[in-house]
Amino acid sequence: MHSSQHDETRERRRAAEIAGRLLDWYAESARDLPWRRTRDPYRIWVSEIMLQQTRVETVIPYFERWMKQFPTLEALAAAPQEEVLKAWEGLGYYARARNLHAAVQEVVARYGGEVPDDPEAVASLKGVGPYTAGAILSIAFNRPVPAVDGNVLRVMARLYAIADDIARPATRRVVEELVRAMIPPGRASEFNQALMDLGAVICTPRRPRCLLCPVRELCEAWKAGRVGELPVKGRARAPRPVERVAAWVEQEGRLLIVRRPQEGLLAGLWELPGGDVPAGLAPEETLRTLLRDALGAEVEVGEHLVDVRHVFTHLVWHVRCYRAALAPGCKVAEGEEVRWVAPEALGEYAFPAIYNKLLGLIRADR
Ligand code: SF4
Repeated sequence: MHSSQHDETRERRRAAEIAGRLLDWYAESARDLPWRRTRDPYRIWVSEIMLQQTRVETVIPYFERWMKQFPTLEALAAAPQEEVLKAWEGLGYYARARNLHAAVQEVVARYGGEVPDDPEAVASLKGVGPYTAGAILSIAFNRPVPAVDGNVLRVMARLYAIADDIARPATRRVVEELVRAMIPPGRASEFNQALMDLGAVICTPRRPRCLLCPVRELCEAWKAGRVGELPVKGRARAPRPVERVAAWVEQEGRLLIVRRPQEGLLAGLWELPGGDVPAGLAPEETLRTLLRDALGAEVEVGEHLVDVRHVFTHLVWHVRCYRAALAPGCKVAEGEEVRWVAPEALGEYAFPAIYNKLLGLIRADR
């Protein structure tokens, strides 16, 4: 046999051996997760979106509540956005919820409420990237497509001793093709989940448990003593700090809240009136200007109540909150984007985590 053919055969055998061991291991030790008790593509889709930037333990109670509140794709599609954002409150990265909501509405409108099992149709849904499309297609429909997330990239970089930066799209494509070739016929659903589980439970980012690993003898990184140096990951940039101000405006026991724009960070969520403070400007002065521009209100800025901080992927918000009072004779009317809310009714509005923290701190203080 020609030597490259020989190599190819050996590679295929090795891939099949890895896959077989992973499937055996998974049959024994798959994690019992609520979305694994089903092949319902809607449930699998929701779980994958929730899991994108959030830990499994955090997701489980949200997922269970969500399925009680929106048991079917149609139920979610028909729900008002406010209710969907409220159910998502605390999970963060709200664009996920808004995109999911828009995408299930599209499934109802275009596909009669059935999640399509066609790769192109799934990949074109809002908020569904290559990983999520792969996960839905393989887990729900057993289609032999890769589902490569950060866990799978790490595992494969180690198994194959790939020293390229896993943050690069080219590396991801290489890994996708390796996974595609490794999927055992008819077993895509379990295989992809087995790879994800191996990454989550055994081949973890720090201190992988190689001694318990079912594919240790086949792992290039292990054999070469390079587990500690793989995968290689380009350094992420530090999040950019943003100074913000917010006003606590209370009148007759009601608090003034405003809704964020429908586009951009934390779109559609509620917050206290205020905004970004440009570099070099005083926060109190900025707050007066912001409230005048946004609400047509003249305010007197009072005591500084509290500071809170929140780290997003690319930003760090630092919010200074002041008590403020409307100038005599000045009124702010309620509307779609503006509300005066009694303390006991605040829970009906979806706030970003940082504002929930801020409200909690101020109320605890009183
Ligand atoms: S042997 Fe270690 S590095 Fe290799 S796949 Fe298993 S856990 Fe990961």
